[in-house]
Amino acid sequence: MPAPTLSPLPRVLCLSGLDPTGGAGLQADIEAVAACGGHALGLVTALTVQDTHNVHRVDSVPAELLAAQLDTLLDDCPVQAVKIGLLGSAAQIGVIAARVRALRVPLVIDPVLRAGGGMELTNSALIDALWRELLPLCTVLTPNAVEAHRLGGAEALLAAGCANVLVTGGDAATDAVHNDWHRRGQPPRRWSWPRIALRFHGAGCTLASALAARLAAGGTLEDALDHAQAYTHRSLQAARPVGEGRWIAHRLHALDGTAPSKITPS
Ligand code: PLP
Repeated sequence: MPAPTLSPLPRVLCLSGLDPTGGAGLQADIEAVAACGGHALGLVTALTVQDTHNVHRVDSVPAELLAAQLDTLLDDCPVQAVKIGLLGSAAQIGVIAARVRALRVPLVIDPVLRAGGGMELTNSALIDALWRELLPLCTVLTPNAVEAHRLGGAEALLAAGCANVLVTGGDAATDAVHNDWHRRGQPPRRWSWPRIALRFHGAGCTLASALAARLAAGGTLEDALDHAQAYTHRSLQAARPVGEGRWIAHRLHALDGTAPSKITPS
C-alpha cells in the first residue's frame, strides 16, 4: 500500500453504550467528535433497549470482547484522547483502565449513573471500580449536579485523583445553566448559559465528546471547555424531536446552518 500523504484527524477513542434512538451514547459521541474536527474510534460497552423517554434495559458487552477490540484497535490506530460514557460492568473498568493508563492521553469521563427518564444505570461495584481505577487517570469528569453529589462532590472527586471536574447545571432548577469547573488549588470558574426551556436527551454525551475532540486536537483545557460548552449550547438550540419524548441535540447543525454560529456565555 502507498504511504499515506494526508495527516490523520485527531482521533478520539469513545467507549459508550449504544442508544438506538441516536440521541445519547456512541452515536452522540461520533457526531460530536466529527463536528468538532476529530475522528471517533467507537467501542460499544453495552447495548440498550430505550426510547426517547427512558432506558428500559442494558446488556453489557463481555469484558473479554472489549479487551480484544481495544488491543486490536490500539495496535493499529494511535489515539489522542479517550472519552468514556456508560460502563457495563466492573470487569470492563479493569480492562479499560489498564489500556488507558498506558496511553497517556487526556481522558474525559461522563459518569452516566441514571438516565434522564429515571432508569438506574449503575451499581455500587461499578462506582467502586470507577473510583479506584478510572478517577486517578481522569483529566476531566463531567457529572451533572446530581451525579456529582452522588459521587461525593467535586472536592472529594479531586482528592480521589481526578484532575478536573466540570459540574454541569443543565438538570438544576436555576434560570440559567451554570457549569462550574473545579480544579485543585484554584478557585472554581463558572460559565453561565441561557436556559433553553426543553428537556433534552444526550446533552451530557455531546459535551464530553466535544471536549475530548478539542483535547485530542491539542490546546489548553480552558479553551476546550469554552469550545465544548458553546458547541453543545448551539447543538441544543438546534435540537429536534425524534420521538414523543425528550428532544435530541442536533450535533451536525453546522452542516445545514440551523444554529447561529457564535454564542458567548455571560
Ligand atoms: N443511554 C446511553 C447509551 C447513554 O450513554 C446515556 C447517557 O449518557 C443515556 C442513555 C441517558 O441519557 P439521558 O441522561 O440524556 O437520558
